[in-house]
Amino acid sequence: MSRRYITTAIDYPNAPPHMGHAMEKVLADVCARWFRLSGHDVRFQTGTDEHGIKIQRKAEEEGMTPQALVDRNVPLFQSLYSRLHISYDVFVRTTDREKHWPTVQALWKKLQEAGALEKRTYVGLYCAGCERFLTKRDLADGTCPIHHTAPEEVSEENWFFRMKEKADYLKTLLVAKDGYVITPDSRAHETLSLLEQGLEDVSFSRPQSSLSWGIPVPGDENQVMYVWCDALTNYISGLGYFTDHEDKSYWEDAEVTHVIGKDIARFHALIWPAMLHYAGIKTPNRLLIHGFLTSEGEKMSKSLGNVVVPDDVIAKYGVDPLRFYLSHEIPVGNDGDFSWKRFGELYDAKLRNQLGNLLNRVLVMLQKLGGDLSDIQNSAGLKSIVASGWSMYAAHMDAFQITDALATDVMSCVSAGNQSFNDKAPWTEKDDEKRRVILAEYVELLRHIALMLLPFMPETAQKISRQLNVPYAERMLEKDFTIDTVHEWGSLKDWKKVGIPEILFAPVE
Ligand SMILES: [Zn+2]
Repeated sequence: MSRRYITTAIDYPNAPPHMGHAMEKVLADVCARWFRLSGHDVRFQTGTDEHGIKIQRKAEEEGMTPQALVDRNVPLFQSLYSRLHISYDVFVRTTDREKHWPTVQALWKKLQEAGALEKRTYVGLYCAGCERFLTKRDLADGTCPIHHTAPEEVSEENWFFRMKEKADYLKTLLVAKDGYVITPDSRAHETLSLLEQGLEDVSFSRPQSSLSWGIPVPGDENQVMYVWCDALTNYISGLGYFTDHEDKSYWEDAEVTHVIGKDIARFHALIWPAMLHYAGIKTPNRLLIHGFLTSEGEKMSKSLGNVVVPDDVIAKYGVDPLRFYLSHEIPVGNDGDFSWKRFGELYDAKLRNQLGNLLNRVLVMLQKLGGDLSDIQNSAGLKSIVASGWSMYAAHMDAFQITDALATDVMSCVSAGNQSFNDKAPWTEKDDEKRRVILAEYVELLRHIALMLLPFMPETAQKISRQLNVPYAERMLEKDFTIDTVHEWGSLKDWKKVGIPEILFAPVE
């Protein structure tokens, strides 16, 4: 059993979560659930990045302390993720002085000992919206390309991270692709071309007078850490690095995957491995980089009034159809679109008419014959659909091509099942025993489909399995449930009878 450690980006809780947050967490959760299902020892971490000038200013606006602001907003993220069935093991809050700060301050000291940090006077262009210094190259017509405001010229003392020193190391790391992979490839190329343009040293702290809401620099209390050392370090503070509850096994002995958005790709691809290298800690194994989500074809923004709130979708369709939509429609690495119309089409066509209908037809007919399952046949048809379905599905899931696994591999098993059911027309078979034997095969097909759906729609997978009365149905969502003994055709000898059919997906107006 090998170890896997998978993390999401930590969210900035200056406002409630939106669909983009949901998309990333569902993606990471699908991966984590697949890792567990295929027998790995998994640790899955998410959290919130709670410091910085934007939180500080937002709190001032609302007349509250930054701590009160994050204490109010962070539970909005946690409760959404629990409604979405995000199966994380650890939730890191960067304001956690007991669990997060000690690792960050210890890492800072290690970087200092390794000669990575140097105090300099910095004169630069600072965008308050971005919360970072911009270079001339970043600007468009003298303004921040994201915020369209002119940056302020700021002169101050900063601790600098000596990034330039690590250019060769990073180049080798990226080119070798030996245990360190950026997915998709296009992002790896982008990172390499950033390297080729040359790196600059990075401001790692700010004077307390301009940034008070953050972690103090150890040994220099007039300075407060800037986002890098604070936020990126969550990936190891959650493992208790450099503290008395240290557990390096999910880093040192594990395959480490960071799931992040394209907007923070370059920081993860360049600054984080450079920090780790200075500190003598191994690099993560993979950056899995997702795109952005638009709404009805347009950029999601408050001013356009088209921000999709995950709870609105959950209220109308339920959690699993939302997880299905996000996984089915948005290939990892690409930008995706949220469209209510497309959502409704997919819900009706795939979930109700294909999946729900097949399950219901088979169960209703078999129940009329008493529901007995003894002697599931091994005829070539459905068995081979399932065998090739599993092998393509596993290959896609292992390669993080989860959209192919769901939209192509699982849904082909579903549509092939429907097709075969219509062709065989078991309702025309006059002999009850022969009809029962035909139907039992579709029940076995549906059992496999439910297992394949588990990472995507855990609750639905369990509902199907309960209706089928599969013996493992009650424990299939436990973290130690694996497919190794149950994914062979006809392997469940203790499965005798199907359960009561129920409508899986109700019609939605
Ligand atoms: Zn900006």
